[in-house]
Amino acid sequence: MLTKAPKGTMDILPQNSYKWQYIEEEIRKICKEFGVKEIRTPVFEHTELFQRGVGDTTDVVEKEMYTFNDKGDRSITLRPEGTAGAVRSFIEHGMFNDPQPTKMYYLISCYRYEKPQAGRYREFHQFGVEYFGTQSPATDAEMISLPWMLYKRLGLKNLTLNINSIGCPKCRKEYNEKLRDYLKSRYDDLCETCKNRYDRNPMRILDCKSSVCKGIVKDAPLLIDCICDECKDHFEAVKKYLTCMDIPFSIDPLIVRGLDYYTKTVFEITAKNENSNGTICGGGRYDGLVEELGGGYVPACGFALGMERLLLTMEEQGIEIENKQKLQLYVGHIGDENSFYAQKLVSELRELGICVDRDHLGRSVKAQMKYANKLGVKYSLILGDDEIAQKRAKLKNMDEGIETEIELSAKTIAENII
Ligand code: ATP
Ligand code: MG
Repeated sequence: MLTKAPKGTMDILPQNSYKWQYIEEEIRKICKEFGVKEIRTPVFEHTELFQRGVGDTTDVVEKEMYTFNDKGDRSITLRPEGTAGAVRSFIEHGMFNDPQPTKMYYLISCYRYEKPQAGRYREFHQFGVEYFGTQSPATDAEMISLPWMLYKRLGLKNLTLNINSIGCPKCRKEYNEKLRDYLKSRYDDLCETCKNRYDRNPMRILDCKSSVCKGIVKDAPLLIDCICDECKDHFEAVKKYLTCMDIPFSIDPLIVRGLDYYTKTVFEITAKNENSNGTICGGGRYDGLVEELGGGYVPACGFALGMERLLLTMEEQGIEIENKQKLQLYVGHIGDENSFYAQKLVSELRELGICVDRDHLGRSVKAQMKYANKLGVKYSLILGDDEIAQKRAKLKNMDEGIETEIELSAKTIAENII
């Protein structure tokens, strides 16, 4: 128990963290290019924030939250996602007073009490972006283009972008009635969850994963056919913006985010692999959310993607990530007395920005070189009495097996390392 991580969590080990760092670097780079700045919010928030912000008819809030009372008897929840905290912060700090739009991103850990399986954990990581203060369809398209561009840069293949419009509360009210009418005669066949959804939020039945419900909704009226002119125009413009950025998309009328504050554009990006066909990114517009959480009316949109699923997809697609964390040089030494010189030299080399290590275990010089090989360093050099006395050393290129004799000074060594 003591030496086992809790169920559904995992360690990112030192030999693997370079993959995370690479993706995180690409994320930070692309956000900078888009003028999106990072926000960092607490790991826990008041439970009510998620009940309202994620919605209390969602699986996340109904079943998956890590909620507890703290010692001051407040109900606290570990964040299951990033939007609610970002919106809370936007309101709390009066960011609506800043020149708009406000563009922010987060790279965070999230917590959901789920049944662990491949790509589904209790602690996982999300990268998400939120745009506040703009209604323009250009914003929806730009926001969608960000993860699309990121995935392309990371080398992902077989991606599909599906978009839909779920209209506004106005068009949806009429639609919900139509949908209830359609479902009425099949009500008894719906799964228990969907029976519950029938009154509270019928649109979410379209999203049900049960095969019976899927069959029932197959011929249901589609919201996209019923949206009002304003929502229709917005959707047409989003499509035009995507097209002008050469981003291919399909319309999937079954994508829903059945909550009142979700409006207009919704989208998902899926990656089709040999063994899986999963959603790796999802998002949309939520013009009602800021108001729902106690701010004024501020239109907004955003997306979130799962980092673990991204890494899994890259692995499945055979995309190699270069390990840039490797040391460049190993400094070996012969004899205990030369250990001091080795330490002085690596210290000077590090000051010059060289990634270098030395023996820490009192190994023989042969064992030191064997270890250097295991580390995969590109260069090595050995300090013996002669080298130190003559101030000359042989820098060995480990890949090519070529040795070059150079002056034994940190500066010269650094200059010869490429
Ligand atoms: P799913 O339908 O797979 O449960 P979701 O609709 O709950 O996904 P969102 O809440 O939209 O997912 O979260 C955005 C992204 O976060 C998902 O596309 C996925 O990549 C990732 N994600 C969600 N839940 C988990 C989890 N338990 N473990 C790992 N990644 C997750
Ligand atoms: Mg889920």
